[in-house]
Amino acid sequence: MKAALIGHGIAGSLTPDMHMAEARAQGFDYEYQRFDTATAPYAGQSLTALLDLAREQGMTGVNITYPFKVDAADMMDDLSDTARLLGAVNTVLFDQGRRVGHNTDYVGFRSALRRGLPHAPITRALLVGAGGAGGAVALALIDQGTDVLFLLDQDRKKAEELKTRLTAARPRVAVSVVDTFAEAQPEQLNGIANATPMGMAAYPGMALDPSGLPSGGWVADIVYFPRQTALLERAENLRLRTMDGSGMAIFQAASAFHLLTGRTASPDRMYESFEQF
Ligand code: NAD
Repeated sequence: MKAALIGHGIAGSLTPDMHMAEARAQGFDYEYQRFDTATAPYAGQSLTALLDLAREQGMTGVNITYPFKVDAADMMDDLSDTARLLGAVNTVLFDQGRRVGHNTDYVGFRSALRRGLPHAPITRALLVGAGGAGGAVALALIDQGTDVLFLLDQDRKKAEELKTRLTAARPRVAVSVVDTFAEAQPEQLNGIANATPMGMAAYPGMALDPSGLPSGGWVADIVYFPRQTALLERAENLRLRTMDGSGMAIFQAASAFHLLTGRTASPDRMYESFEQF
């Protein structure tokens, strides 16, 4: 069985290792390659060419990551409900020559939230970063019980677009775009989810200071490299509950593994391999 990850600058991605380790543990042959458009021989190749290449090589499908998730949605013959709603695809299955797009980031964050912040109140939340992954986080929050959601993005248009999608799909939820943290009335929030790249080595610092949250509040970061971001460190110092990005990374990979191989992955085992790499 063969699959690949398509993305730009993915040499350090843990996804291929997690998939291969899970297949080894289950005792079947699975070759998971990287199609990295930042390096030879894939540099300069278009997403559609790489999708065709993967299919020609007999792959069952591929995972798609930054910066191709949104473009991929327009190249599919069919989309899962979640991928269509979010306008973003991170897993493609080749079904008798057709491309079928899925989005496992959504189920990844939803499962991570249940495990990482059990019983945390999530009725009122703020999402910072309304890009490809932010949409999945927003929808997962809503489907887990958020009914007042604030969206903050330095590119206000992104937040407005996400609000339109969410409001159409889940009309009972009050979604508002804000330009500042203060506008979201932090003292009344249950928690904050960060889906900006802030906190990664290339983007040091944090998108906002969570010090306005009430005691008992939580901060979830989906950045997982490093796991301990400046935002989570600040939240811990404030004695807020925290969740790092590893849970989402593992659960989205487990879900993609299931789609690509037809076999159920063990999230616990994937967590162990994640910790090893
Ligand atoms: P993206 O570029 O599509 O979206 C990021 C958004 O954040 C953009 O809309 C941008 O305008 C906004 N932004 C950036 N800096 C900001 C700031 N200081 N304040 C407010 N808004 C800001 O990227 P993406 O694909 O959505 O990924 C975002 C992050 O999520 C990346 O770091 C990625 O590694 C991480 N991620 C984690 C997982 C996981 O499984 N844990 C999955 C997907 C993505």
